[in-house]
Amino acid sequence: MHRRERDEIVDCVECGSPLDVERERGYSTSKGWALCWSCALTRGARFDEDEDRWSVPPDITGLPPVEPEEIP
Ligand SMILES: [Zn+2]
Repeated sequence: MHRRERDEIVDCVECGSPLDVERERGYSTSKGWALCWSCALTRGARFDEDEDRWSVPPDITGLPPVEPEEIP
């Protein structure tokens, strides 16, 4: 163990699958939650390959808010 994994692994708030934000594409926010690639696309997000960023954010309607105690 040369580093803390919890810093990079975030569970997708939609399907619950762990997302490695360092290696996998997913929609992650500074609010402490993330959507995996497939869930983000399902929610209408579009990824700009040229700019390497999300050009259209996913529709987050209905997603659970982040509990204050879950934020480090
Ligand atoms: Zn997901």
